[in-house]
Order: sequence, then structure tokens, then C-alpha cells
Amino acid sequence: MTEHKMTKLAEKLKRGISVSGPISLAEYMHICMADPQYGYYKNQIAIGAKGDFITAPEVSQMFGELIGIWCIDIWQKLGAPNQFCLAELGPGKGTLMSDLLRAANIVPEFLSAANIVMVETSDLMRQAQKERLQDIDKNITWVSEVNDLPQMPTIVVANEFLDVLPVHQYVKSGDKWSERGVSVDDKDQLHDVLLAGTIEEALLPKGAADEPQGSVYETSPAREAIIEMLSATFLEHQGAALFIDYGHAISSFGDTFQALRSHGIADPLAEPGLADLTSHVDFERLAKCASRLNIEPRISTQAEFLLAMGLIERAGSLGQMGDAQSQTQISNAVERLASDSQMGSLFKVLSLTSNGILPSGL
Ligand code: SAH
Repeated sequence: MTEHKMTKLAEKLKRGISVSGPISLAEYMHICMADPQYGYYKNQIAIGAKGDFITAPEVSQMFGELIGIWCIDIWQKLGAPNQFCLAELGPGKGTLMSDLLRAANIVPEFLSAANIVMVETSDLMRQAQKERLQDIDKNITWVSEVNDLPQMPTIVVANEFLDVLPVHQYVKSGDKWSERGVSVDDKDQLHDVLLAGTIEEALLPKGAADEPQGSVYETSPAREAIIEMLSATFLEHQGAALFIDYGHAISSFGDTFQALRSHGIADPLAEPGLADLTSHVDFERLAKCASRLNIEPRISTQAEFLLAMGLIERAGSLGQMGDAQSQTQISNAVERLASDSQMGSLFKVLSLTSNGILPSGL
């Protein structure tokens, strides 16, 4: 077992648990990510070579550029409204938005119609985003919640945002599926427990009865709430969203909760507040959520999406402008973003669109 370090957040969590009892995994994840004093995103610049992980926008400018082209196409299909909200959820270092806006220079009307809104909870990340976007000649607004987005035609992009939102886990134990939680053991260490709460088998995917003991099912009401809020906005004002993340296209069983620290897998209970906690996104479940609200979902892999949006062509034209070294970097980036052994098929793309709008690339 990993030696658990006494992070300040571990102390705070243990004090809370000793007063009010064990907490659910979802609550643990939420506190680790968002605690106002010691939460991961409050204190760490997570992304990049010096951080804990690297994301697609940081791999190559082509990623944000192709998403920019996707947004322009959607805006045109929405009837080119002269005011619309262009929102990014969890914008990290601001790289995706910066590349998207540069690509959008080809359609100045799109840029002048865009009210750019960044949904970000962390002051540290907001600062990084402001620096990255300081040369943008437009007013950019920051808000903390999807709920705070203006009510107007809306185009939303979000890369590796959903995976940080909390998940509940239910573990098959006997004839029940019991909720997983976190408690403190007699050596004063945080540890896994099963809580009294359960989920009914009728709410689980097909085949639950045949799953072995210990099998895990994950749900994320926090993710579903975001999809529901956006769907309501799209229904009323028209709009579309593009979510990119690692996860599965078909709901299934399995424990995908993980901690990442310094580009490696860590014990999620070992250093609360210092590691990034995530889980895979159940895209089928989110797609059903949107369908129920009459918003059309489409799911593809990241590779399918990027190739259909013109990744190879963009790589070719960027390569022509550069020397041999930059050509190698570009072809490595294509490989990293789109090959099956890297991000190409683990990462999925979910688009949501209102009123029969057919998005490109999916
Ligand atoms: N999209 C970026 C960053 C992904 S990391 C990229 O691809 O590089 C997750 C981002 O979501 C960070 O910016 C983090 O601060 C932000 N975040 C985490 N929880 C959030 C929440 N509940 N609401 C809004 N942003 C959040």
C-alpha cells in the first residue's frame, strides 16, 4: 500500500469524516478538486510538461483550429446570428480558445458576433487564460458555472472538462450494488468503504445480474446536470456543443476512477489535493440525457472527428511552411491525436445540436 502523506487536505477531510461520518466517492472527488483552500485546481497548474498531464490543445495548434472550423460551420447553420455566445467549459491554459479564434479570423462576421465566455472555477487557471488571450481584441467574460451563461444562441466547446466532474461508484456486493465511499481506518489513514446507499438494478445497463461480485458501475449526476442545462438553452435559443474526453461510447461496467500526478498514475487516496482525480465519461448516458430533451446527440472517436475535419490537410499545409524539424513535430502530433494506440480511439467526441442542425465531422 502507498504511504499516505499528510496533505493539509487529508487532515481537513479526516476531521470532517470524524465529525459527520464517511463521505461518498463523488463528495471526495469534489472536495479534492474544488476545496476553496486546498483543492487541486485552486492550487496547481495541472496541464503541460511541468504539470500532471498534457491535453490535446497542448499537443498541437491544429486541434483548436479544427474546432474553430467546426464552430464557424455550426454558426452558419444556425443562420449566422449577429449575436451569439461562444463558450468554453474548463478552458485550462486558454490554448484551445486562442487557436480557435485565430482560425476564425477567416470569417470576421463570426468573430464580431461572438460573445466569448469562459466557464472556469479556478482563479489560477483564469489568470493563465487571461495571459494567453491578452492580445484578443474582444471583450472576454469569465463565469464560474454553466448556469451563468447568457441566454442566447450558444456554441459550447469543452475538452477534458467532463472527466473532472465527480462520479458515484456502485460496487456489486452480495445481491446489492452498494455505493463506494471514503472513511478513516484505525491507523488514521483514508480508506475505501462501502456505504449504506445502493442503486436499483433496474437503473443499471443490461447484464447487471451477470456481473461478478466486485463489479463497479459509475454515474455522474454532475455531468448530466451540465448536459441538461445546455440542452434547455439550445432548445429555447438554438445552439450546439462539442464535448471531447476519454470515455466509452456504450454504457458499461468498470472502475475508471484514477489519480494522475506528474504524468503517472497515483493512488487516489494518497495525496488529496495534489493529484488530478478523473474518471471516464459515459457518453451513451449523456447522449440519452440530451435526446430526452429533444437535443440531437452524435458520438464519434477523436480520430474520426479530426480526420473528417481535415487534420491531414491542415498538417500538410502547416508542414509546407516549416523546416524538417517542424515537419517531424507535426507528424508526431497527428500520430498522438489520431492514432488508435494514443488518443485517437480512447477519446470520444459528443456533439449536441438543436433543431435538425447537422454538425460536420461526426
Ligand atoms: N480544456 C483544457 C483543460 C482541461 S483540465 C485543456 O484541454 O487543456 C480541466 C479544466 O477545468 C481546468 O481549467 C479546471 O480549472 C477546470 N475546472 C475544473 N472543475 C471545474 C468546474 N466545476 N467548473 C468549471 N471549470 C472547472
